[in-house]
This record gives sequence, C-alpha cells and structure tokens, in this order.
Amino acid sequence: MRRQIETAGKPARGNGYRATLADMERIVVVGAGLAGGRTCQELRAGGYTGTLTLLGAEDHLPYDRPPLSKAVLAGRRDDTTLPVDLGDVELLLGRRATGLRPGALDTDRGPLDFDGLVIATGADPVRLPGDGRQRVLRTIDDARALREVLRPGLRLAVVGAGWIGAEVATAAAAAGAAVTVVEAADVPLAQALGDEVGSRMIDWYAQAGVTLRLDTAVHAVQPDGLALVGGEHLLADEIVVGVGVRPATGWLVGCGLALDRGVVVDEHLAADWSTPVVCVGDSAAWWSLRYSTRMRVEHWDCAQQSPVVAAATLLRADATTPLRADATTPLPADAGTPPEDVAVYDPVPYFWSDQFDRMIQFAGRRPADAKPVWRGDPSQPKGWSAGWFDDAGQLAAVVAVGRPADVVRGRRLMVAGATIDPTRFADASTPLG
Ligand code: FAD
Repeated sequence: MRRQIETAGKPARGNGYRATLADMERIVVVGAGLAGGRTCQELRAGGYTGTLTLLGAEDHLPYDRPPLSKAVLAGRRDDTTLPVDLGDVELLLGRRATGLRPGALDTDRGPLDFDGLVIATGADPVRLPGDGRQRVLRTIDDARALREVLRPGLRLAVVGAGWIGAEVATAAAAAGAAVTVVEAADVPLAQALGDEVGSRMIDWYAQAGVTLRLDTAVHAVQPDGLALVGGEHLLADEIVVGVGVRPATGWLVGCGLALDRGVVVDEHLAADWSTPVVCVGDSAAWWSLRYSTRMRVEHWDCAQQSPVVAAATLLRADATTPLRADATTPLPADAGTPPEDVAVYDPVPYFWSDQFDRMIQFAGRRPADAKPVWRGDPSQPKGWSAGWFDDAGQLAAVVAVGRPADVVRGRRLMVAGATIDPTRFADASTPLG
C-alpha cells in the first residue's frame, strides 16, 4: 500500500486508479456501526453489485448509539438496531480486524482479501488509571449493564461533565441514584461551548439533584471510589468515566496509511486512491475545504452523512470507468488526479444532546476566542441560543437550548456562506434567515 505523504496538510494523491468497478469483486467494510452500515447501504444504492462484506467486532447488527445514554438508560428502549437493509451483505460479526496489508485485511480469524476497503471502526472511550472498576458507555452492552445497576440510593460517580457525563447523570438521577459529577474544568462543556455558555449549564445539575464538582481532577479509580488530585477520596458504588474517546485505529498502526488522531483522508474521504481505501464516521480525519483544516467529528451526523461521499469516492476510484449510467463527467487527462466530479465531504458539523430535560443543538465551528452573542435570555431554563461570529463577521457557530429552528436556520446560513448582522441575530423575535 502506498505510504501517504502530507503536503500542506493534505494527503498526496495516489498515482493511479488500479481498481475498476468490475475489478472490485469484494469491498470490505471494517466496523459495523452507523457509519459502516450506512456505507453498505450507499454502496448498493450507488450500483455496486459485487460482494460486500461487513466486519464488526461486536456481536450486534449496526445500531444507533445516541439512544444508549438517553432512552436505553431510562428504560424506554432496549433495542436500537438501525433500519438498514443488509440482506445481501456478508456479515462477519464478532470478528475483529487486526491489521492491514496491500489487498488483505488481517482479522482475529484469518485474513480477508479485498479490492476496496472502508474503515469505519469508530472510537473507543478513554479510561482512567487505577485498579477500581470503571464503566464506560459506548456499546449497547455497556448501556444495558449500567441500567441494571441504577437504583435509588446508589452512589454513582460520573467523571466528566461533557455530553455523555451529563446524559448519564440525567438518567441516573431520574432513577433515584445519588449522583456526583466530577469535572476537571471550571465549567461544563468548556471546550465545546466556551466558558460563557458552559457556565449557564452549571445550575442544571443542582436542579436535577446532581452534585457537580468543578475544578476537580481524578488521580485514580479505586475499588471504593475516586482518588482525587489533592488527596480527597470520593466514595462511590459505581463509577462511569465519560472523558472522551480516541479513534479506534490501533489496528492500522504500521500499515502504511497516515494516522493523525484518526485516519488521514482527503476531502473525498480517500486514504489511498490506488488501493482504494476510504474512511468514514468517528475514525475519519478529513481535510475540510470549508475550514482549511483537518477535522474529526465524533457525532452522529458525520457517521450518517460521510458514507454518502465515501461510497461515491470508492465507486469513482476508477477514473476510466463511468460508474453510473448518468455519468457525464469527462475523464481526467492525468490519472494522478481524482476525477473532477468526485463528491466532496465538507459539512458544517452538527450535533445534539438531551440532558436535564433540555435539547441542546450545536452547528458550526466555534472560534476559540470569540464572545457569544445571546439570542433570548440565557438565564431562562430553555428557549435561548447563542452565536459566535468569526473575524470576518460571518456567523461561525450556533448553540440552541430548546430553539431548534435557530440551529436549522443558522446552519443553513453557514452552509450558504450568507451573512447575518449580530444585532439581527440577537433579536430573538426575528427568524434567522
Ligand atoms: P461506532 O458507532 O463506534 O462504530 C464502530 C464499530 O466498529 C463498533 O461497533 C466497533 O466495535 C467496531 N470496531 C472497532 N474496531 C474494530 C476492529 N478492529 N474490527 C472490527 N470492528 C471494529 N452523537 C450526536 O450527534 N448526538 C448524540 O446525542 C449522541 N449521543 C451519543 C451517545 C452515546 C452513548 C454514544 C456512545 C455516542 C453518541 N453520539 C452522539 C455519537 C455518535 O453515536 C457517534 O458519532 C457514532 O456512533 C459514530 O459512528 P461510527 O460508525 O463512526 O462508530
């Protein structure tokens, strides 16, 4: 496999398109989560009729993760299997990829040949040091097991007041547990939303009966609780760690693909055009033309939408074969350059969270130093938004608490590159755009 060389932050192109669609007898999709399942769907919708193999380390069919920390923990749902038709897909569940060589994938049950490869292995939760039992919440098995132990009076320590921590605290408090959330920063969600917006969320914890301990770092997880930095010991019956995830790309180390906090892919989600290999979802670190930077987004919308582009890229990897009946694009003169019409993945990122009886939605990319412009009254429990503007005066990001239209319209403005005056933005009585 060709080793990629970074040029000005972008991966170099392959110098040929070896595979044709007819050559692609087998495409292997590694990782049977949302992004993997969706890529199978998109490959079939794009006209691929060869063998399609979906390999997944878990024993489950692809399922949705957002409900795990919401409806599943709350006991309202038990099954979140995705409505993806995998009838003509070869399913290899409970089987893990362990390495990658040119044209062959190593797995814990022997190698698999492929002509095209999709990397969709998502992300793994970060764990803390210590010899105590720590739970994480990534899989449906994690969610069911945690739900089993939630009960009135349970002393639950949650490490991290991020998205997962807040959602777990919400469900656990509703189940009657005595919940303490320990957060190293001095406001929740400071990195995602900044101090001003994050500080508006502090009261939500107390209102739900949850103890929030800010500016409190964990030294180690111990059998009966948390050893905090500074020497204090926080007793707990159960500990859930929600301090972020890392791309699940360890199995690719040394294979020749560029890895940099994810699989390095270009704006078409291609890691390698000559083999070809694409990457989708939480494990993809793609080049964003919109933001002129490499991005990796660990949210549902990315896993849902990136497969559209990755499948199109894979099916256009052969520049000499029109892949769809309606393909009218002229063939490139230089086989070293991808075809002009290859789809580009360039979203304005979007995500949501349900916590403390509020729906929070966010779209865009928040400039680190910008101050939020309020829209509505943030001292109210919900029904307000905030926006951030970049140096050029363009709306760069919006967060909304119970004002979904602001995020939908704000995102539309950002996608279109349209301008909105901050004064008009601040007028909550006028729709955005
Ligand atoms: P994953 O869903 O992680 O799927 C990857 C799959 O690959 C896994 O099944 C894994 O077992 C498998 N795998 C890994 N390594 C290997 C290997 N070597 N071989 C074979 N298989 C392998 N996003 C939002 O926008 N809003 C939300 O409210 C929200 N809530 C969430 C709540 C929870 C509890 C979690 C965990 C996530 C939430 N997310 C939310 C994030 C969203 O679910 C993820 O971004 C999305 O699931 C990523 O999909 P993926 O397919 O890339 O990765």
